[in-house]
Amino acid sequence: MKILVCAKQVPEATEVRVNPETGTLNRDGVASILNPFCEYAMDLALEIKAKAPATEIVVLTMGPPQARMALLRCLEMGADKAILVTDRRFAGADTWATALTIAKIVGKLDAVDLILVGKHAIDGDTAQVGPMLAEVLNIPQITYAVGIEVEETAKGAPRVRVRRENEGGYERVQMRLPGLVSVSKGAASRQVCSFQAILDARAKEIRTMTADDLGLDEAELGLKGSLTQVVKVFPPTVKAPGRIVGGADAPKAAKEVVDLLKAKHFV
Ligand SMILES: Cc1cc2nc3c(=O)[nH]c(=O)nc-3n(C[C@H](O)[C@H](O)[C@H](O)COP(=O)(O)OP(=O)(O)OC[C@H]3O[C@@H](n4cnc5c(N)ncnc54)[C@H](O)[C@@H]3O)c2cc1C
Repeated sequence: MKILVCAKQVPEATEVRVNPETGTLNRDGVASILNPFCEYAMDLALEIKAKAPATEIVVLTMGPPQARMALLRCLEMGADKAILVTDRRFAGADTWATALTIAKIVGKLDAVDLILVGKHAIDGDTAQVGPMLAEVLNIPQITYAVGIEVEETAKGAPRVRVRRENEGGYERVQMRLPGLVSVSKGAASRQVCSFQAILDARAKEIRTMTADDLGLDEAELGLKGSLTQVVKVFPPTVKAPGRIVGGADAPKAAKEVVDLLKAKHFV
């Protein structure tokens, strides 16, 4: 079984500031981390591998060269191999261009049975890349997974049974593979990486792929290939808190509301 984990490097959320001039995120001097939901995806991949040691976990990130650190974190956790998809031509990619580029990479890899992505990235926060990737690859998908089991079917085609969050609680859904699962904060326990694992990670293969390896038209890459563009990022304006009118005396509360509306010349 081959699992591909898509991992994104993101700025440490607590430190991000918005550059008022350019309306973009100011990432200078901000620590970068592996997106927490991508780490939960790694946890579920390692749980599958713990039950089936022959499972191969490949982790992939599309980003600037320093995104290599996010891959290293996944290799330390237990991924077997890594792919760094990096090229200036990918800059400014929106979720569509990101999904299309990752789909091209998947097409170039030997058969991938299961793709795991994080529920969302804590910077762009669109939760769109996973579902788009599944659509582009024309494979089934399950989102908001908190647990996953792999089952061999009678016909030998593997399938997964997924415990997923939904509005009312949880449900179990099954899907035949190949397929994509987006992962939420689950129950998977995280092993602290041993010093040996940290050393071993540095010996593991990190393959670099550029736009030239993909055979995609330049017009499909990065900002050029994006259907949307973030023109401005700005913190929400903090409004004064609303006024709560309540209490057991309904007529008195109603009168208070009318007085407030009159005071504001709304009525
Ligand atoms: C503040 C802000 C707002 C943005 N708004 C939009 C928008 O409205 N529409 C839009 O199209 N783009 C938007 N973008 C750009 C968007 O962030 C990038 O396209 C990004 O690569 C993917 O979107 P995301 O961060 O929302 O990821 P999500 O879709 O939330 O990520 C979900 C999962 O997909 C995988 N994944 C995502 N990106 C990568 C990657 N580069 N490499 C490997 N795996 C990955 C990871 O497993 C991740 O956990 C925004 C960016 C910022 C910083």
